[in-house]
Amino acid sequence: MEIRKAAVQGFCFGVAITVKKAEEAIASRGEVTTLGHVVHNPQMVESLKARGLRNAESVADVDAGALFVRAHGLPVEVFEEAKGKGLEIIDATCPMVTKIHVQAEKLKADGYKIVVIGDPAHPEVKGTLSHVPGAWCIQKVDDVARLPRSSKVGVVVQSTWSGQGFTDIVKALAAKYYEVRAVNTICTDTHNRQDEALRLARDVEVMIVVGGKTSANTKHLAELSESHGARAYHIEGAAELQPQWFDGVKVAGLMSGASTPGWLVDEVEARMEELSRQPV
Ligand code: SF4
Repeated sequence: MEIRKAAVQGFCFGVAITVKKAEEAIASRGEVTTLGHVVHNPQMVESLKARGLRNAESVADVDAGALFVRAHGLPVEVFEEAKGKGLEIIDATCPMVTKIHVQAEKLKADGYKIVVIGDPAHPEVKGTLSHVPGAWCIQKVDDVARLPRSSKVGVVVQSTWSGQGFTDIVKALAAKYYEVRAVNTICTDTHNRQDEALRLARDVEVMIVVGGKTSANTKHLAELSESHGARAYHIEGAAELQPQWFDGVKVAGLMSGASTPGWLVDEVEARMEELSRQPV
């Protein structure tokens, strides 16, 4: 069986920076606390936990020490609360996410009513909305109809957006509002992985997508692969691979989500090679 690997594998640069900063922070302080999981990857979370990364639900649960801000960032009010408590803040917000905050603030300062395309429950979107109070958050073309009147709207989008097409939503906004200024803030890494899923899925019979089960973006890579002709499996590690998935398969694809460490992909590849040599 031939294994075709996506050109983009392992951590995206934002997650790579976050993990490196977390490792350095733990090494120098012994212990730091993050709100929510630092990355959408159970193996990485466990590894950092074993070295001293603590997890809390809210700033109220952190009494002292350092608060580590993960790649998605945190809402402005949470930063303020942490500062008010005298906590040291180690900010590992991905530069691509910070760029969205800056773009949204600029548009607001220029008089645009802000529309954020994204999942309102996603930590990154919560953070973005906190930078532009009063912004509207939408997820699909149909949501445009229920938005109030405004003369001009400025649009940004969740960095890992994998929902309904950004362009379709912007077109619907342009049909409703006099002036629309849209900045496509989907990050390059997300773009590249989605493109790779489409490109590879056409040529492989089976696609293995490695990544945390809670990662919406990884899930989307599997869905994209399925919709473009490959039988896709979303797994968190090599142990989940089933020999029968590869029965009679000549070409299989392998890709990963942005929070998946490279070594995990290598392990999966090695196991796929092993299985392809074994009779079912
Ligand atoms: S997926 Fe994009 S925005 Fe998110 S951490 Fe990675 S590089 Fe940054």
